[in-house]
Amino acid sequence: MDKIHTTSQAWLEDALHQAHDKIGLLTGGQFAFPKLEDIDITCGFPTTKARSVEKKGKSSHDWSLQGGHIISISPTLVDPVQVMFEVVVSLAKSSVAMHMVANNKKVTHIPNPDHYGSHLTVNCREVARIIRFIGADTSKPSQPTMNSHFRDIWADLVASFGAYPNDKSHQLKGGKKDTTRLVVGTCKGCGYKSYTVMTHLARALLVCPVTNCSRHGMSFSYTDSRVVNLYPNSQ
Ligand SMILES: [Zn+2]
Repeated sequence: MDKIHTTSQAWLEDALHQAHDKIGLLTGGQFAFPKLEDIDITCGFPTTKARSVEKKGKSSHDWSLQGGHIISISPTLVDPVQVMFEVVVSLAKSSVAMHMVANNKKVTHIPNPDHYGSHLTVNCREVARIIRFIGADTSKPSQPTMNSHFRDIWADLVASFGAYPNDKSHQLKGGKKDTTRLVVGTCKGCGYKSYTVMTHLARALLVCPVTNCSRHGMSFSYTDSRVVNLYPNSQ
């Protein structure tokens, strides 16, 4: 019995959870990955600039100033196995980033004016060391590609999530603003997450509904630059 996800957001969160387990198994526990609660995943370009210039968008991994990881899956992707590939590569990047930060390695941030936090440049060879285990073609470490081997290893798992919702609203509209993109808010007290569109967030921020949370009734934190611009204390 297949699951049915009605939004790409729900599908992606399910995929992230399962991929997190599977990449741990496939790599034999040789690499540490960030905890799931420290990773946010969304379908959308990380920047409005990327939205307008990229025809065939790439997914990206960013690192927020609070140490959380933000995975943005390109909304132009429709093949669920390809989406899973991007999720797994992003997980590998977040693992490398986590180690670089933990070991005080020389970290090169590329500040991103359109996005709260920064893009962390991770060594592509380190990423390739991890994703070699998942069936990726890493002969060009800077451009790992999905191949039939990856499809063989992951297709069954991907099929178990049901169809990848192809939200029409996420498709490219010639660089026009996407008002239906979901923005994630997180409670700093208990980790509760909410997803709302910008139109509603412009009216009011959501608050934590968990009654035994120390921040019950207080606003969620947001990393999206559009929210931070409207509510400078919302981080
Ligand atoms: Zn809370």
